[in-house]
Amino acid sequence: MNLAHILEDSARFFPDRTFVLENEKKLSYAEMNQLSDRVAGALLASGLKPGQRVAVCLPNSSEWLAVYFGALKAGCAIVTPGIAMTGPELVPLLVECRPELLVTTEEKLRQLRDCDEEWPVRLVVAPSGDLSWQAFLELAGDGGFKSIERDRSDLAAVLFTGGTTGIPKGVMLSHQNLLASAHTIARQERSTEADRVLCFLPLNHVFGQVHVMLSTVLTAGSLVLMPAFDLEEVLHSLEHLEVTKFYAVPTIYVRLLGQKDIGKLLGKVRYTFSAAASMALELVREWRKKTGLAIHEAYGMTESAAMVTYNHYYRHKVGSVGTPVGAVEVAIMDPMGEPVEQGQEGEICIQGPNIMQGYLNRPEETKDAFWGPWFRSGDIGLIDEEGYVFIVDRLKDMIITGGENVYPREVEELLYELPQVDECSVVGLPDREYGERVTAVIKLKPGAELEPDKIKEFLRARLAPFKVPKAFKVLKDLPKSATGKLLKRTLRRQLMA
Ligand code: ATP
Ligand code: MG
Repeated sequence: MNLAHILEDSARFFPDRTFVLENEKKLSYAEMNQLSDRVAGALLASGLKPGQRVAVCLPNSSEWLAVYFGALKAGCAIVTPGIAMTGPELVPLLVECRPELLVTTEEKLRQLRDCDEEWPVRLVVAPSGDLSWQAFLELAGDGGFKSIERDRSDLAAVLFTGGTTGIPKGVMLSHQNLLASAHTIARQERSTEADRVLCFLPLNHVFGQVHVMLSTVLTAGSLVLMPAFDLEEVLHSLEHLEVTKFYAVPTIYVRLLGQKDIGKLLGKVRYTFSAAASMALELVREWRKKTGLAIHEAYGMTESAAMVTYNHYYRHKVGSVGTPVGAVEVAIMDPMGEPVEQGQEGEICIQGPNIMQGYLNRPEETKDAFWGPWFRSGDIGLIDEEGYVFIVDRLKDMIITGGENVYPREVEELLYELPQVDECSVVGLPDREYGERVTAVIKLKPGAELEPDKIKEFLRARLAPFKVPKAFKVLKDLPKSATGKLLKRTLRRQLMA
């Protein structure tokens, strides 16, 4: 088996169907299949052997996709660090992964060269690297390429976690992990070759790569690629490119809701989806009111190659992330690793064909991440009597104040109900008396003012006193990761500085 077969199959059955739309450029499935064949040929001609690693660090682009599938076809594992990483962040990751070859941009190469570290790759494909992209492709010669067969458990890709709670970890995913996940996602979303999907989410991250890209390739849909979220360009594409599916993280929905007449701007979009972080109920309601569309939510993580649960549109339950998908099983465990009683909160644990093989070069962390066959998500949740999963919060984000546990999400949900709040985040800051002090950080809507006493009064009527923030701070912008997640770790550091 080989994950690259999904591209080959789509090219066989839908050769002329558009795979990628990128500015003025358009590539059909047949064209992308050929281009990735050339990459595979060039990799082998440059001395790479099946089983070795290839890294791609480019913005979302057809070249990124060609390297991804080309590496897989050559039997290599693909490593996908994010283009948003700086040189000093990237070098240790490359040192850990030891790719034989790296494809990157001129700017990234310069940043890497500026780092005073051991050089971690044998060959660099970049304008002033060992080979330019064109010279690299020319190594391939002519003719097709037959994908090298791999075992289902062979490493296919190393993806990095979001880095929300610490330094990103390299997650090892096999051909089977990724295939299982792509199939489950496509089936849950009823994806077909008629779908046209907007993709500004970074392809290096699990959301863009597995949820959006792999499930689209599997069903021969089209990808409209953008290097990053840009409000004007997104709205332009929605209007002119007949996009049918829209995938984003909650912070992007916040921005779109700030647009007048957003319902009219969505064009042919019939499906909107959010994952990667909690979506406040208030936002889901507002979105439905303004656009008539439900926001479908899934819950997943890099270690599960994306989808674990999905809030199905036939039986959508607002506030839940839905029910476990495909062959995935979910259990809620107590701190000893024993299942809790039905309806109780605990750590969300997962089993399934999508669960990673481990963290790259981190045997201890890999061991700690499992209780027997169960992968520990690090998230707190519960399952209701109908089997729907509700996310409470991340274990690491829980605030302990005066010996009481506060889940920030509960407070954030209420803050979002206030008309002056655009975005918010609740964190615990060190406090001599309480251990941690509940602190709310708010980005106000234009023209709005912060009135801490009024907010406190509003919260006191709804929350136990220990959950009500002791301090309120206003920030112009809240720190976010490249995927658009709020970075509480950075926020805490900023507030403590
Ligand atoms: P790191 O593991 O490096 O700290 P990260 O956990 O943010 O970063 P990802 O694998 O990108 O890295 O994200 C997975 C996490 O995102 C989940 O464990 C969960 O905390 C959160 N998440 C994903 N989907 C949802 C959702 N629908 N609702 C709430 N949280 C979600
Ligand atoms: Mg994580």
